[in-house]
Parts: sequence; C-alpha cells; structure tokens
Amino acid sequence: MHKRIVVYRPLPEDLLAELRRDFHVDDFGQLEDLDDPAFRAALGEAHGLIGAGRPITAELLDAAPRLETISSVSVGVDAYPVEELTRRGIQLCHTPDVLTETTADTGFLLIMATARRAVELADFVRRGEWQASLGESHFGSDVHGKTLGMVGMGRIGAAIARRGALGFGMKVLYSNASPKPALEEELGARRRELDELLGEADFVCVTVPLSAETERLIGQHELGLMRDSAILINIARGRVVDEAALIEALDAGRIRAAGLDVFEHEPLPADSPLPHMANVVALPHIGSATHETRHAMARRAVDNLRLSLAGERPLSPFNAPVRPRA
Ligand code: NAP
Repeated sequence: MHKRIVVYRPLPEDLLAELRRDFHVDDFGQLEDLDDPAFRAALGEAHGLIGAGRPITAELLDAAPRLETISSVSVGVDAYPVEELTRRGIQLCHTPDVLTETTADTGFLLIMATARRAVELADFVRRGEWQASLGESHFGSDVHGKTLGMVGMGRIGAAIARRGALGFGMKVLYSNASPKPALEEELGARRRELDELLGEADFVCVTVPLSAETERLIGQHELGLMRDSAILINIARGRVVDEAALIEALDAGRIRAAGLDVFEHEPLPADSPLPHMANVVALPHIGSATHETRHAMARRAVDNLRLSLAGERPLSPFNAPVRPRA
C-alpha cells in the first residue's frame, strides 16, 4: 500500500506528479488554517508532511500518529519543534545550499537599495517630482570600500561576505558562534564580538537562524551601538531583530536605514509603519523567491521525503531521530 503524504504549501506540478506516482498525496496547496478539518483528517493518516511557513506544534504532531518524516521546503527550521520531533523519532529534513546564492543576492540587493536609496528615488521619479538635477538631500552613500559586518557567517553569511569582499572591495567583519578560519583566509574577514562589530560596521547584515539564543539578538542596546550612518540588513528572520526598537531607531535617525526581507509578523500587518518610512526598503520575504531556486528547493524537499520514507538517509536531514521509524 502507498504511504500517504500531506502537502501544505504549493509544489511545482512536475514534482507533485512525481510524488503521486509513488504515494497517496493529499495536496492542500497554500494551507492557511492548520485547524482545517480536511487537513486534520489527512494528517491522522499521514506518513510524510511537506511544506513550509506554518508553525508545526507538538499538538499538531499529536494529530499525526503515523508521521515518519517532515520535509521542509526551507533551510530555516524555526517553525518546527526540533527536540520534540527527535524525541518522537520523526525525521526533519530541510533545504540548505540550493538557496544560498539566491538569498545572498537578495541580501546584496538590500545593501545596494538602502545605500543608494533606490526605492525612495524610484518613487520620486514615479511621482513626477524629478524636475531638476538632484542635490545633496538626495545623495546616497557608497557601498564599495565600506565595512560589512556579518552577524552570522554560515552558508548565506559567507556568500554575502564574498560578494562584498570580492565584488565591492569591502572590509568584512563577522560575529559567529564558531570561528571561520577558511573565510578569514579567503576574504580577509576578521572575527569580532557582536558589540565591537556593531560599532565598526557601515552595514550590519543579519544571517543567523532564529532560535532561543538569537531571538531579539539585535535590540535597543545593539542598535544604540551602531553608527548613526550605519545601515541594518535583515535577511534571516524578523524576530532576530526587536522591530519596535528598530522603528524607534530609524525614526530618531539613530541609524541611517534598514533593508528588511523578514518581519516579526508576516505578512506585514497593515498598520506597520515600516513600508511608509523613506529610509526602509521592505521586501515580502523573497530571499529565495526565484523560479530556479524555488524549484530547486522543492526538488530537494521531494527527494529528502522520498529517501526518508524509503528508510534511506535523506540528502539534507536536520535532526537525528532517536528512534528512526522504518
Ligand atoms: P547556516 O549555514 O546554518 O548559518 C547560520 C550561522 O549562524 C552559522 O554560521 C552559525 O554558527 C551561526 N549561529 C547560529 N546561532 C548563533 C548564535 N547564537 N550566535 C552567533 N552565531 C550563530 O544557515 P544559512 O543557510 O546561512 O541560513 C541562515 C538563516 O537564514 C536560516 O536559518 C533562515 O532563517 C534564513 N533564511 C532566510 C531566507 C529568506 O528568504 N529571507 C532564505 C534562506 C534562509 P556555526 O557556524 O558556528 O554553527
């Protein structure tokens, strides 16, 4: 008998068709309501779950007694109770590497757009206000030759740092759980305590995963250590930055600008001031959102799921379940 899979985020048609050949697939597309009765019923029978972007709780797992594998179409696993999954013998898989370069491109897009005020000035042109050559009040700041401070120097952090050092002649500082000697050698990057980095960097770029340790890692104190000419980029998760403190710092001119792909609450609530602030570039969580990369992520997630449900080692497991189910 075919194993049963529940899909809770849209997958490309070719990959869905592939899954349907080997499994019974309950496809919920972009599932908005985790309490949807049909979803709950399917979960009760499911061996595999594939999707992203919805918080998976222990209570939800109670409703899925046969679950063997969750295959996330994301690299970040903050939406999953990892220890609980491990304890229950459920394999969690994710999609590292295939999205690294695209997400780094988005990080650099935010660096360029904020420094050169690209969105604000494009709006100025669109409103028909460009009627004379511009003066100082519309100037931006250079990116090349500046100091890039990476908060997190993992796969995506390193890819952004590489763009900065090799493409833009930037000096790279980083704060990270472990030292990265190979990147120090390759890019001339220098490791700093977070507080030191914040005081030295022209661009502070956040790429750490969201966890109990990194939640609100950048708060009022940290923003206060940044230069008033510095720009904050967040390409990781919204909750790594204290959003209220950030809005206050931007409003008061204590930092120059922010480039944000991620927010405390997504989609951004209608009453958020962030999209209306001239010194903010706000993107709708598009770090990995290209045709090529989203397909590659879905491909990886499908392959992980298939291997894991066959009792083989998936390509990118996140946990090592204590009691793997065959
Ligand atoms: P990664 O390779 O695991 O890199 C994370 C880095 O953060 C690692 O170098 C790790 O240190 C460091 N780190 C972890 N906890 C830390 C702490 N408490 N203090 C200091 N450093 C810490 O992950 P990645 O592939 O670069 O992805 C990073 C995150 O980006 C993901 O978790 C996800 O949330 C986010 N992301 C966002 C988008 C988007 O669309 N905006 C797309 C993809 C990913 P060690 O090297 O010592 O372990």
